[in-house]
Amino acid sequence: MIAKDVLAKFKGIVGEEDYWDQPTDLVLYSFDSSVENPALPDVVVRPESTDEVAAICRLCSDYDIPLITRGSGTNLAGSTIPVAGGCVLLMTKMNKILEINTDDMYAVVQPGVITLDFATAVQEAGLFYPPDPGSQKMSTIGGNVAENAGGLRGLKYGVTKDYVMGVTFCDMAGNIVKAGGKTVKLCTGFNLTGLMSQSEGQLGVMTECILKLVPPTKAHKAMLVSFKDIIDAGNTVSGIIRGHVLPATMELMDNFTIRTVHEATGVPLPTDAAALLLIEVDGHPAVVEEEYAIVQKVCAANNGEIKIAATAEEREALWEGRRKALSSLARLRPTLVLEDTTVPRTKIPDFLMALDEIKNKYKLDIGTFGHAGDGNLHPTILCDKRDAEEMQRVHAAVADMFAAALRLDGTCSGEHGIGLAKQRFMVDEVGEGTINYMKSIKRGVDPKNLLNPHKQSI
Ligand SMILES: Cc1cc2nc3c(=O)[nH]c(=O)nc-3n(C[C@H](O)[C@H](O)[C@H](O)COP(=O)(O)OP(=O)(O)OC[C@H]3O[C@@H](n4cnc5c(N)ncnc54)[C@H](O)[C@@H]3O)c2cc1C
Repeated sequence: MIAKDVLAKFKGIVGEEDYWDQPTDLVLYSFDSSVENPALPDVVVRPESTDEVAAICRLCSDYDIPLITRGSGTNLAGSTIPVAGGCVLLMTKMNKILEINTDDMYAVVQPGVITLDFATAVQEAGLFYPPDPGSQKMSTIGGNVAENAGGLRGLKYGVTKDYVMGVTFCDMAGNIVKAGGKTVKLCTGFNLTGLMSQSEGQLGVMTECILKLVPPTKAHKAMLVSFKDIIDAGNTVSGIIRGHVLPATMELMDNFTIRTVHEATGVPLPTDAAALLLIEVDGHPAVVEEEYAIVQKVCAANNGEIKIAATAEEREALWEGRRKALSSLARLRPTLVLEDTTVPRTKIPDFLMALDEIKNKYKLDIGTFGHAGDGNLHPTILCDKRDAEEMQRVHAAVADMFAAALRLDGTCSGEHGIGLAKQRFMVDEVGEGTINYMKSIKRGVDPKNLLNPHKQSI
């Protein structure tokens, strides 16, 4: 509970129209896109400048108020749930693209800019910003950096952290910190830019990001490959990587997901296939042809049937089908538990077999899709949060999935972060020493643990 005179100070910083403290408004910021239990904040504010952010940090620090930075709330790990109450800092008004520099190939943006708006502006300027989370129509650049969001192009082009050249952020005491810069090379001080990636709002509030841009690709070839056996699809992924081809995208969908997407969207997919791979090779036209020849050979060796997208419309339909996988599955049951297990790419067939066993053992509906090319699969469990017995089976299945991923040298999070959702698995992956080191860093910059507390085991 925050005293009235302190609430008035928040309002004084951002003004009446960017301040909320009524229960009907607060409830909107009590949850995110995860299945974690909601918790109410005490106040929500929407700053429009770095100075306002710094003033709010100072205020929270002076009065020991937890501060939870929020972009669009699309994270799937409970990273924005205000478990200890406090102030939600909504970044959506700081949404300006400040500069797109086509000569030096970087951009400077405020963190509240929507990912797709930014990517579109970059494309219009003749360059390319590759990170493309499925949520790009809603998510913000700040949220992408803080979660180190991935996407369909992660395999060849990397993930958000590979494009962050610098950030300006406010620390909990309200100091303004500048990390990184606009040069390709930079070795000044600690790599604080790297530290802010996947920090889940626990080490500072970013107010400006400098992002790397790359030249657009000259040519591409997209194809849909259907398989009668999902293990063949897994072996195809491994085979293509072993053939030293890195497609721009290599996405997997199992039969359950194929049928669901087809029914929900009408996108023409082969509903009798056990699994699909959506593959796109890109680059110089000659390279595209050379890589396609290798892909074709590996697919044939693994009984995959290739259908090339002949037109731009057919190509867009393929990607639209993939982007709608999550929302299509979400229509089937009241609750959707989307996991984010990742294994080294050559171990995908082993992981798919483990998933099959888990599905049968716990008698659950699990749709599996994901970025198979980079080993990042999203087994998605359809369930009902109100059914305690079913949820017990879901929790046990999730624990088994992570155990299987770790056994195969994988990770609990390929791109969605830890937040609240995966804290219990983190120690198994990184060990106590790592968590203690993270706690020491956090204590150093935020001694009262006010910045997004109780996330990532801190
Ligand atoms: C349909 C759907 C599809 C998705 N697809 C993908 C996908 O393909 N790949 C992927 O990686 N994720 C995906 N996600 C997850 C999610 O969209 C990403 O994690 C995204 O990066 C979150 O952005 P956001 O703006 O919503 O951030 P939020 O959810 O609001 O916040 C996420 C984290 O960032 C912190 N944060 C936000 N802004 C700042 C800032 N300015 N300074 C410091 N910390 C900040 C918050 O405190 C929080 O810890 C998907 C989600 C949905 C719902």
